[in-house]
Amino acid sequence: MPEDSHLQERARKAEIIIAQPTAFKVCEGCDSIVAARVATCPNCHGYRFNDAPEAVVAQARLLASRAQTSVIADDLL
Ligand SMILES: [Zn+2]
Repeated sequence: MPEDSHLQERARKAEIIIAQPTAFKVCEGCDSIVAARVATCPNCHGYRFNDAPEAVVAQARLLASRAQTSVIADDLL
């Protein structure tokens, strides 16, 4: 996948998350954003999360602005 469309996809997911931050939480192990209902992180299998809405929004903006390995709620939306 070309890098620019990859970033567009991340931005699209970030918008969804920012619109409803209480439906998500941030993994404290790998900084991925996961669905609030999951018990363990699908990316690193961690079980410690920050579910503060402002933390979710801040992390969504961060992940949307750069390409790296943390996932944004992949296949959890
Ligand atoms: Zn994780």
